[in-house]
Amino acid sequence: MTDIRDEAIVLHTSDLGEADLLVSFLSKEHGRQRGVAKNAKKSKRRFPNCLSFGNRIELLYQCRPNRELCLLLEARLIEPLSYVGESYQKALLASYALKMTHLFLPPSQREAEIFELLKAILNKDPHLDPNPLCLYFESRFSKFLGYAINLKECLICRRPYRFEGMGWYSAKKGGILCPRCRPTKGGVIPMGPEEVRLLHLLQEGENFHLLGFDREILHNLSKILLTHMESHLGDLPRSILWLRERLWQ
Ligand SMILES: [Zn+2]
Repeated sequence: MTDIRDEAIVLHTSDLGEADLLVSFLSKEHGRQRGVAKNAKKSKRRFPNCLSFGNRIELLYQCRPNRELCLLLEARLIEPLSYVGESYQKALLASYALKMTHLFLPPSQREAEIFELLKAILNKDPHLDPNPLCLYFESRFSKFLGYAINLKECLICRRPYRFEGMGWYSAKKGGILCPRCRPTKGGVIPMGPEEVRLLHLLQEGENFHLLGFDREILHNLSKILLTHMESHLGDLPRSILWLRERLWQ
């Protein structure tokens, strides 16, 4: 067994017996992990006020051979989840992003980039509009998990899309269709050229607050991303949908 010291974001904690905590965390170098912090509810010395969800910590832990759970040895707070007290909408977004990562990020996948994405979501200026920030998280998260929305060409006839004219998002195809190939009986969501362009820039990690979104575009992109995530992840848990709905009210 080797000790690992790494920066991590706490995704979720739950009680384990009287004194222990079960902690799900995203480590910067080793991806999503789950571990036991023994006596953490009582030990102020090894885990001083740092195992709350959303906190960024420096963590010392051990991975044990043939054991699903690692063992947390000690932690130190680097940055608390700061803006939660300042904005209800931002608190919803933080909970949503942490929960999505906790539930859907496979262990040890594309860890460093997801870590930076989550860190950026948790640290963004509390005055920024949480709706484009939510779209930014969802489009980047989907891309890192390997299912970006294909916006480069019609996914039936392969005609390149040049960000002019309407496109039709198809969940079945995982991207857009041209006017000639789109089904006429539904199952697609129309997208204007500006919406396709903005979604493309979000997926590429463009600085979202420099992009201009009007309310109608935001809501259409929100509908498309939710449909897209559900087509890949299955029905999302009610607790996730509840957070997301509140965020978009
Ligand atoms: Zn086509």
